[in-house]
Order: sequence, then structure tokens, then C-alpha cells
Amino acid sequence: MTDKRIMYLDGQFLSEDKAVVPITTHALHYGTGVFEGIRAYYNDQEKALFAFRVEDHFKRLVDSCKIVCIDLNLSPQELTTITIELIKKNFSESDMYIRPLAFKSDPAVGNFNLKSLKSSLAIYTVMMGRMIEKEGIKANISSWTRVPDNSIPPRAKITGAYMNTCLAKTESILGGYDEALLMDNRGHVVEGSAENIFLVKNGKVYTPSASEDILVGITRDTVCKLLQNQLKLSVIERSLDRSEIYQADEIFLVGTGAEVTPVIDVEGRIIGNGDVGPVSKEIKELYRSLVHGQTKLYPEFLTKIILPT
Ligand code: PMP
Repeated sequence: MTDKRIMYLDGQFLSEDKAVVPITTHALHYGTGVFEGIRAYYNDQEKALFAFRVEDHFKRLVDSCKIVCIDLNLSPQELTTITIELIKKNFSESDMYIRPLAFKSDPAVGNFNLKSLKSSLAIYTVMMGRMIEKEGIKANISSWTRVPDNSIPPRAKITGAYMNTCLAKTESILGGYDEALLMDNRGHVVEGSAENIFLVKNGKVYTPSASEDILVGITRDTVCKLLQNQLKLSVIERSLDRSEIYQADEIFLVGTGAEVTPVIDVEGRIIGNGDVGPVSKEIKELYRSLVHGQTKLYPEFLTKIILPT
């Protein structure tokens, strides 16, 4: 364990104060970057951190890079190896969040040709426990439309597109809610501000498909597997109307940060009976024990990291 965090920048492990970029950096001005959010959970019994689906996050990062013309020259496996080394260097007995960021690092002014701009890669870690403490949250339907694929593709985790998230989240908090649900430009509810959405109605589970202006979440995929294989529920991928949200038996949001977060109220409409519903409750508990390395399920999703001796 070190006092100062160690960060990765362009091939080097550096102390926090050395891992810096100039204010001229293109990505700072124009949002020309892509990123990931990965979690590693501390398991006290095993005295180990369990990093969750690291290589899958890097597969998505490499895919995101294709859209913004960033060539990292590193495979998802190589990026995973670097990240495991970084986690070891910053090991602590608490949950950790890992932030890889690939970005255009040339000076900003006068160049919008993504192909001609130099790219950089940074990876760093922060301590992070549960992001949302409440058992069930209140959401609004945002007046901000989710950015469409032919504007800034949500399929890629593009830094600049998170202004959309920030506007929606700010409106939501100022309005007295906990979280925003965003609609696409056809009026379908597609996502939370940084989560995928699931709706339960009459024993069936629904979620928007990958072609509906969503980030195809890794938690979404995990939760689909748990719903189908462990809870024996079918998951139907289709558009969700706004009115279906109000009439749902259960709604829950999923994401690396938010984990599984049940929604119990949408704009004053009580969801189900206003308590966390049985599917939400079960999936939330199952997900938490899976990511903490407390089950035998999907061992391929977990990388066990122990304190280097
Ligand atoms: N949608 C958006 C817009 C997000 O920012 C996130 C968080 N990365 C998600 C969905 C959930 O994705 P994941 O489960 O891969 O974290």
C-alpha cells in the first residue's frame, strides 16, 4: 500500500502529482475521450479484492475507441494486465473504482480531425463504496433527450456525451428527485442518467434493446444472466413507453456505479406498492454477493487480487 496513489499514463506508472496533462489538451476542450468505470470489491474473509469483468470493460473501451479514432495499440488482455498491476500498486482493504480514460491529448485549437490527433491513455483508481445508499429511489422523466446514435453514439462511452447525463441529473436533483430517466427522440424511456433500466410487469422483465440509444451495460448483461439463469425469468428486449413506467410492478436501474438500484416512485406515481419489489430485491442481493466473490456463480467474471507480499 502507498500513501500517494499510483496512476498509469501513457506506458508509465507515476505518482499522482506526476500524472498530469496540459490545459491545452484537446479532450478537455471538446470532450474527445472515451472512458470506463470498473469496480473491484474487497472481500474481508479472503483478504482479496475481486475485480469485476475487467476484460469485458476493456473490450468495450476498445470498441468506443473505434468511434473516436483512438488507436491504443493495446489489446483488452494487455489493458487488463496493466490494470491488475495498477490495482496491486494501490491495494487497500476497501472497495475500489477504476477509471480508464483514452483521450485526444494534442493541443486543442484549430483541429477537429480525430484521425490526425494524438491519443493518450490514463488509468487510475479511487476508493468507492456504495454510490447510492437509499434502498429505493425517486425518479423523474427528464426533459433532456438521450443523445441519439447519429449525434453522439451512446453505445460508446464518450466523455463529451456525459454533458447529457449531467444536465439530466442536475434537473432531477433540483426537482427533488434522486435520479433521471431519459427518453429517446421517439419518446421511449431508454436509460437512467448512468444506468440501464429494467421493468417488471406481470412476472416478465423488459429492458430496451442494444439499438435504442443505450450504453450496452456490463451490469445489464450480468443482470440478464442472473434473471434468466438463476431467477428463471424471461427478459424481453423491447422499447419501453413512458406510460409503461408509471404502470410497472417494479423498476430497477443497473450500472457499475449504481449496482442494482430499485426505483419506487416516478414523478409521484408509486411503483408497485411503493416498496422494493421481490425481483428487484432478489437480483440486488444476488448481484452484490456475486461481485463480492461470495458465490460460485460466473467465476470467469471475477479476478482475485491479493496484497502483494
Ligand atoms: N448507461 C450509461 C449512460 C452509463 O453511463 C452507464 C455506466 N457505465 C451504464 C448505462 C451502465 O453500464 P455498466 O453496467 O457497464 O457500468
